[in-house]
Amino acid sequence: MVNDFSKFYVMLLLSEGPKHGYEIMSQMEGRLGRRASPGQVYPFLSALRSEGMVAFVEEGTGRKKRKVYSFTAEGRRLCDRLFAQFTALVSSAIRPSIRVCSHCGCSVFRDAHVEEVGGRRLSFCCRYCAASYRKSTVGGG
Ligand SMILES: [Zn+2]
Repeated sequence: MVNDFSKFYVMLLLSEGPKHGYEIMSQMEGRLGRRASPGQVYPFLSALRSEGMVAFVEEGTGRKKRKVYSFTAEGRRLCDRLFAQFTALVSSAIRPSIRVCSHCGCSVFRDAHVEEVGGRRLSFCCRYCAASYRKSTVGGG
């Protein structure tokens, strides 16, 4: 049901608290820097409502009447699942670029400090770790 990024973003915004449709659209625009159309937001909100994932209360009167949407308990569970999936997706996408410092074991992203020690190219988080590692293995003391 949540098969594109704008839908995902609607879920994200609703997870922050109750919002009406226009608020969702303007916040999408403000944060993503691109226009959100009513056609991306309102049909999705009514689909969520017919699935029992969101409920709304009407606020205001007459022409200023608007529907304020919020998650139901079930909608919140859907949201948690979705965010967990998304987190797993993102961390598996960046995992290949993570190395572990050969000395202290901390995670090193991209710009690792690489040194050759005993004929092997090893990654370190910093040159101090490389120096300590070199001391401990080459046995210089
Ligand atoms: Zn280190």
